[in-house]
Amino acid sequence: MGAALRQPETGEPAELSRQADFAMYMAKQGGKGRYQRFDAEGYDRMAQRAALRADLATAVPRRQLQLEYQPVAELRTGEIVGVEALVRWNHPTLGLLQPGEFIPLAEETGDIEAIGRWVLSTASRQAARWRTAMSQCGNLWVSINLSSLQLPSPRNLAAIESILRDPASQADKIVLEVTETALASSVDGGITALNRLKSFGVRIAIDDFGTGYSSLSTLADLPADILKIDRSFLAGDDTDGLSAALLEGILGLAQKLNLDAIAEGIEDPAQLALLRGLGCRLGQGYLLSRPGPARAIEALLAADARLQPPPEGQA
Ligand code: C2E
Ligand code: MG
Ligand code: MG
Repeated sequence: MGAALRQPETGEPAELSRQADFAMYMAKQGGKGRYQRFDAEGYDRMAQRAALRADLATAVPRRQLQLEYQPVAELRTGEIVGVEALVRWNHPTLGLLQPGEFIPLAEETGDIEAIGRWVLSTASRQAARWRTAMSQCGNLWVSINLSSLQLPSPRNLAAIESILRDPASQADKIVLEVTETALASSVDGGITALNRLKSFGVRIAIDDFGTGYSSLSTLADLPADILKIDRSFLAGDDTDGLSAALLEGILGLAQKLNLDAIAEGIEDPAQLALLRGLGCRLGQGYLLSRPGPARAIEALLAADARLQPPPEGQA
């Protein structure tokens, strides 16, 4: 049973009946023999989600997606060696949405395939333009996040392959980032797919490493080239205690497996000093540079900037 109470803002009687109907629907979802009162907030959330789902389908054709790029730097010198492409959705009424607000939804609706293809082709062409335009960027690589749902779909895999096959993409300077959890959920298919993609010359990075559940033995079997160490390993207060020991362990593991390591989420000078001390070669984070639109990153690249922490107190 669902119930709704007339409020001062309730309009025509039909609205009250729709609210009661919605409450009944929620009650039914909760199981048998239940009743529920209309919950305006829950209703708004669901209506917004439904609207967002519908809008998502046209986000690519309406050119509402945009990319930001976050530099990845050599920690010793501050030289920018790569950039990670991060997608944003410039929604016509809600403004700029972060990936956390729409990627999970896009995975549900299937729009992730179109979004993923757009990100891959846009980011790889942008990086290729930077390489041609600026001699100091000749080796700049670009990292692209793949959703776990992009790998198992043969149709989508073929679409990714056709982008990589295009010489304009310069596949040998592309890094594809996948999470451990993504691989774990589609183990065999995922690994076969990654191996196929690697044949185009791309490198594979394991994103957010250390937060998933992959065992160390699986790691050795993954066709990975790079470990991206999740920022939770830097987030602890005791940078010289447990986190340092864990970081050292992961860096040692990467070295043994012949993988490059990138530390994610470097936010303060102490973290940078710790990573440098442990011999971690590459990193990214707000301290070095926040993600920015192409023209802002282009300015950094054009100036051949060295990303160094700002003087103490200004971070
Ligand atoms: P990720 O791939 O691990 O990306 C790093 C995230 O950490 C980015 O958030 C970035 O802005 C943020 N970040 C960078 N440096 C720092 C720092 O120093 N401190 C903190 N606290 N955060 C930092 P963003 O852009 O919101 O992206 C979130 C996640 O969304 C990404 O995590 C990635 O998993 C996903 N994502 C982003 N773009 C795409 C895409 O094109 N396709 C897919 N499938 N997923 C994407
Ligand atoms: Mg990533
Ligand atoms: Mg990450």
